[in-house]
Parts: sequence; structure tokens; C-alpha cells
Amino acid sequence: MRQWSFYTSNELKPEGWLRRQLEIQAEGLSGHLHEIWPDVRDSKWIGGDREGWERVPYWLDGFVPLAYLLEDEALIAAAKRYIDAILAAQEEDGWICPCPKARRKFYDTWAVQLISKTLKVYYDCSGDERIPEVLYRILKNYHDLLQSGEIRLFGWAKYRWFETFIALNFLWERYHEDWMKALARTLRDQGYDYRRAVKSWQTPRHLWLRKTHIVNIAMMLKSEAVSHELLGEPYTDLSEKLRETLARYNGTAYEGFTGDEVLSGIDPTRGTELCSVVEQMFSYEILFAHTGDAKWAERLELLAFNALPATLSEDMWTHQYVQMVNQIACQRTMRMAPFSTNGPEAHLFGLEPNFGCCTANFSQGWPKLALSAFLHREETILCSVLLPSVLKDRGVTIRLESGYPFKNEARFTIDADRAFTFCIRIPSFAQGLTVNGENHPGGTVEMKIGPGHTEIDVQFGTVPMLKQRPNGLFALQAGSLLFSVPISYKKQAREYVKRGVERKAPYCDYSFIPTTDWNYAFGATEFEISRQEISDIPFSQAAPPVTAKAVMRQIDWGLKFPYRTVCRKTPKSIAPLSAGREVALIPYGCARLRMTEMPLLKEER
Ligand SMILES: [Zn+2]
Repeated sequence: MRQWSFYTSNELKPEGWLRRQLEIQAEGLSGHLHEIWPDVRDSKWIGGDREGWERVPYWLDGFVPLAYLLEDEALIAAAKRYIDAILAAQEEDGWICPCPKARRKFYDTWAVQLISKTLKVYYDCSGDERIPEVLYRILKNYHDLLQSGEIRLFGWAKYRWFETFIALNFLWERYHEDWMKALARTLRDQGYDYRRAVKSWQTPRHLWLRKTHIVNIAMMLKSEAVSHELLGEPYTDLSEKLRETLARYNGTAYEGFTGDEVLSGIDPTRGTELCSVVEQMFSYEILFAHTGDAKWAERLELLAFNALPATLSEDMWTHQYVQMVNQIACQRTMRMAPFSTNGPEAHLFGLEPNFGCCTANFSQGWPKLALSAFLHREETILCSVLLPSVLKDRGVTIRLESGYPFKNEARFTIDADRAFTFCIRIPSFAQGLTVNGENHPGGTVEMKIGPGHTEIDVQFGTVPMLKQRPNGLFALQAGSLLFSVPISYKKQAREYVKRGVERKAPYCDYSFIPTTDWNYAFGATEFEISRQEISDIPFSQAAPPVTAKAVMRQIDWGLKFPYRTVCRKTPKSIAPLSAGREVALIPYGCARLRMTEMPLLKEER
């Protein structure tokens, strides 16, 4: 019943600003992690003595598509070295993780699930024909060990059981063997059922639990979509029901959830872990492809164009463990951090602030988004996100020139030697849509394309709107972009060595110390959008591609006790301290320090 299939990195390539973003990623930490970070450079996965569990597969899950999308020979060669070493270590019985036989019982097999998913990604990119058999042996062995009771799901594997289905579905389509269905059932039966957790999502507790763990939850959102067919169960849109509770009690303005690192309630000064941003994006990419329901693509855009860039430095050498929606500083706090279970450095930009999972895992964000721009089904091609790309599909070439989401226009140039149906998903917020100059009601544009040359010009407008948030606050949104008051900052670098891991520029810790006011409220409900050229750094704070001029007034907002670098959840007073003044708000994703959710004062006459 899957609606749409993904293209491979051979068929679909990023262009324009998106390609530039991937180049920045390759020039930054993702493209160099294997040279500088011991847990990847010297991992047990490749015969070293460092971490031999999730970090290498997490990194490869994004590094592999990054390398292939950019057709970067050096990166492809580096990826192959890792894959070759991993494959060479596969044991006779199919087991592939770096864990001796006697220890398997105690090994959290989340790594088995993750490496199988990563090898499927590698297969999609490389077409390496060793992979189907390697995956067959990994999962057959997993099945045998679980079936015999030699191992059981516990720890992370129990809470992430559905991740296995990325590879398991691939094997099922290819081999159709009964043990695959049996493994599906075993995983589901031994795995955690998140429907049982719903009550615990309604009140934040300062307690580290796997059922309220933000990354588990972000991954879980795709569980029904990936597993129901093999389990022989109907699709019930369970993700939507679960998401509703999560959003009501923990939602953020960008369609994510607070989790630092367990769910932490509705509060723009609580943190959201980077791993959860990229995992939630991947879940929504799967959900949209599986259901064709536009709501998942719209939510994906909000995460991708706001939460992802905001929490990565402009050069992509450093990242935060957690980001805040109202983030007035990124500085070490006192020992009691303003987060549930994360430490006082969790919102610094660095190599591995708080913990190193995101260091490896964030790599998948941009590459997998690039691979979600176009989808296909039989003789139909769908442009699902208006990202600049070029697609080559059996005699059809489609080039999409677009500055979306910064500009609301897209130009498709199609050269085809066959006929096909072409669909373009238009976001629901689009106003005054025209296709080749003619008015169109919106939704999905569908047209029959014949052989030959075709050009399609799509234009629409977006209306900047204040979206109501809880606690009497509002956030400005135009299209898929949120806008924030940018706070200028002074960057302070700290180089040091911790547990044998060197942190030196450009991948040391950075504090961002605010140098401009942030205590604002919206003073009017009219906004003026202006667009500039997209610079070499698409999400640049100094040169944002779009700004929204707003009338803002200063208020007595106040600091969250006892911190000097965290603002209060809601302002102390909304009595204006200043007359209205024009402030250029910039995209949330461009603003490393920012105020996003603010009160709306009565308009001045
Ligand atoms: Zn993480």
C-alpha cells in the first residue's frame, strides 16, 4: 500500500542552495569525522579500540548519501573503506557487530538494527551487490538468536525495534521468506509498545526514561508505517494520534518537541536534542512516502528549514546537543542545568557537547532531505518538496530551479523521451498560485507530460502570520519559515582535551554571548517581507536570504531564576518600556541566538 518510492542518489541530485548546504557539510565535521574523532576514526567497527556500537553506523547513515550525492570521490572512497572493513568482519553465522560471541547476550542489539539500516542506505547509493546477501545473513542470524532465546531485546533495541524494518522490508521484497515475517513479529512482541507511554507524555518529569526519551519518540513516529505490512496489520494513522498528544504537551513552534533529553513540556526555553530533529525528519519523510498525506511533508519542511540549520554552526563544524526556541545565549550554565537530564554545556556549539550521539547522527539530516525532493510510483513522478534538484529517471530529466523556501517560485525544465504523469505538491499556505501564468487552486498540480521539452513555471505568495502559541505567546511564520529577532553575539572559543578527545578550532567549544537586546514583544500585526540573494551560506545570520520587518516594543522579560543566560519562559511584564521600533526579523534557521515566541501588545494608534 506504499504510495511513493524514493529515488537513489544516482537518480536525484541536489542543486542550488541545497547543494551548497551539502558542500558545507562535507567541508565541515561530517566530511572529516573519520579523520579527527576517535570514536569513528579508531572504532572497533574497523578494527580499532574505540566505541563499537552506534557511532560509526550513525555517521555512515548520513556520510554515505552525502558522499554519493556530491559525487565526491574521496568521500566515497572513505565510505567504502568503512563498509569493506565492516563486511570483512562479518562472522560465519551472520553476526556483524564488533562483539565477541560470549558477550552477545549482554550486547544491546540496537547496533544490529542500526547497521542493517545503514547498509540498506549504502546499497541504495552504491548498488553494491554484496549488500543484499550481507543483510540477509545479518537478519537471519538476528532471527535465529532471538528465536532460540540466546538473546532478547533489551535497552535501546527494545525501544527502537522498528528500525530493523528498513532492511527487513527490503529483504522481504527481494526474497519473500517466512522467517522474515516471524522476525517482524518477534521484534514487535519483544519491543516496546509506545501506546502504553501516552499518559507519561503529558507531564514533564525530571526523570530519564526510555519511553519519554525524545530520540526514541522521534524514531517511533514511523513505526507503524514501516512495520504494518509485514505484520499483516491495517494502517491506522497511529502516528497522528501519538503526535497529537506529543504536540499538545511538548510541542514547539517548528513542529518538533521539547526533549532535553526526555520530554520537557511546553516551554520555549527548554531544549530539543539534535538527534531528535534529524530522526523526526526521517520519520516524516517515510510517513509522507508511505501515506502520500501532505501533512507529513509540511511538518517535515518546518523541521528541515528551521530546527535543523538553527542548531548547526554556519560552517557545520559544530552543533548543539539541544536548541531552545527562545535562546538568548549559548553559555555554560551553573551545575544545575536548565534541562531535565542534560548537563550545563548541552546548548554550547561544539564537537560533542553533553554527549556524542548527535556528533555522528546529525549527518543524515540534509542528505536524506535532498533524497526526498522527488518521489515516484509507476509512471508518475512527484515533486514532494520544491528543493532545487535535478532528477534523471529512465529517459526523463527534470531540472528544478528554485530558491524555495526563501523564494516562492519554482521553474521545472523537463526533457523526456516518454510520457508520464507529473505531480507537484504545493504547500497548503500558498496563496495566489499560478502555473505557467494561469491561476491554480493549489493542493497537488497534476499534468500529463508528453515526450519532448516542457517548461513549468510555478509561483505563489505567502502571507506572514502570527501563529498562536501556548502561554500567551506568538511566533511569526511565513510559509515554512519561522522568523525570530536575531541577537548579535560575541563568539568565545575554548580549546581543550577531554578523555583523550581533542577539541580544537574549528571544532572546539564555542559560547555565544549576546551583545544586543532580546527583550521584545510584537507591537503590530503587519510585517513586510523582503528577499535578498541566497548567499554562499544559505542560513547565514549576517546575510539572511529573507527578512520580515516588524514593529517591536521592549518589555521587562526577565531571566529564569537562577540563571543569567536563560530568559524566563514568559515575560515578567508585558507593559511596554519603549515605543514601537522597526526590527528586521530573520529566519529561525539563520539566527543562532534568537527570540521566537513573544507576546503581542495592543497596537499603538
Ligand atoms: Zn543525540
